[in-house]
Amino acid sequence: MKKTYHFKVLGCRMNHAERREMESILQDRGMKESLQSPDLEIVHTCSVTGQAAAKSRNAIRRAKRNGKHVFVTGCFTGTDPKVAQELGDTVVTQAGETPMIERFANEVDNWLQRPSQETKARTTSLPIATLPQHQGEHTRAELRIQDGCDAHCTFCIIPKIRTTLRSKTIEDAVTEATRLVELGHKEVVLTGVFIGAYGHETALRRKQDSPESEHLADLLDAVAHIDGLQRLRISSMEPGDVTPVLLDAMVANKNIVPHLHLPLQSGSDAVLQKMNRQYNISQYMEMIALVNDRLTLNGLPPAITTDVICGFPTETEDDFEQTLTTASSACYLHMHVFPYSVRTGTSAARWTQLPPEVVQERVQKLIELNEKLSFEYRKKLVGRQVNVMLEQFCDETGFAKGRSNHYAEITLRTNGKQGDLVVGTVFEVTADKTLAKEDLVILN
Ligand code: SF4
Repeated sequence: MKKTYHFKVLGCRMNHAERREMESILQDRGMKESLQSPDLEIVHTCSVTGQAAAKSRNAIRRAKRNGKHVFVTGCFTGTDPKVAQELGDTVVTQAGETPMIERFANEVDNWLQRPSQETKARTTSLPIATLPQHQGEHTRAELRIQDGCDAHCTFCIIPKIRTTLRSKTIEDAVTEATRLVELGHKEVVLTGVFIGAYGHETALRRKQDSPESEHLADLLDAVAHIDGLQRLRISSMEPGDVTPVLLDAMVANKNIVPHLHLPLQSGSDAVLQKMNRQYNISQYMEMIALVNDRLTLNGLPPAITTDVICGFPTETEDDFEQTLTTASSACYLHMHVFPYSVRTGTSAARWTQLPPEVVQERVQKLIELNEKLSFEYRKKLVGRQVNVMLEQFCDETGFAKGRSNHYAEITLRTNGKQGDLVVGTVFEVTADKTLAKEDLVILN
């Protein structure tokens, strides 16, 4: 009888892309997915915040109750290796010279008691993933083109976990993306820990030489040319990496969506410096102006989303006011607001922390600003046609939700099914909804 597996994935898009790669390894070995009492439970963990680490711990405990054998993979294995070892049966760490996916394959072979198919040699590029045979539940597919970071922002533990920087070759990225399109995905999202370091062995811009051959803009262009790929999105870019040549590639390919996620983290130069970020506010705002200038189409500016950390240890009231001012000028579609969370092993964890009530008060102010900015941006969509990829259905009302090219969440009544791209015209925007009426075209 075929052995069975089940995944629990926590955290970011990188983790979802890696799940796909791990799943292909299990399917290659004849295993199939099963929710009930699987032979193998894989918990792909996250520990970017203390809360994420707690969720990972709980997920491993639950997996122990459900599965016969539990693999613990992902970032929690780097931050809390002892706990991962105690709670799980097999731990596959993220750090190390051999890519995690190859070590995962070796551990699976050990568990299955079969000779390993994988090489243990060090590779400098991210290996190509053999993809699962079926599409799975997601309509949007993540494609991992880069891994690793050595930028050492003082709040972030990732450089201690995903230590080695690697990039996927353009040829391999195109092969993988083509397969994703063949599996039925209409949208591909390029992911990486530090995508701007694509082709480099360091994320530190001052130490980077020009890569000899593989450039991110060339990769973007090559993937965008795949037949049948309707949308191409970049998951997140560090502000200093948005270059005119990258924007040229976005403008030249109509299927690359006009949306960029550009982490701000703080609107104060003093805090950015303490965070060890590689930009200041005037550089950030120059880049926002450039993005708006190049990607505005028919009077509609591109969508810009961001991450902001609230209550970083050295953040004063004045620093926080500067964050509010900067965020207002950047006119974001959405801000992910994170209260600062201590990560043991980082520099900022050793500094005096702000009182929790101060952090909470600032978080609340940013959330309110986010609602206002999002409403202002979405108002610009009224009367415009939008392409919507259907993701979520509400059976009782017949309404569905999906994302537009600009990443706005659109609600509309439709006969389409999950994964369809439909066209609608936005007629109303409320504080929390963007409502559209479906037009008579289905883009399939
Ligand atoms: S750039 Fe900074 S925040 Fe991003 S992964 Fe690297 S260290 Fe962490």
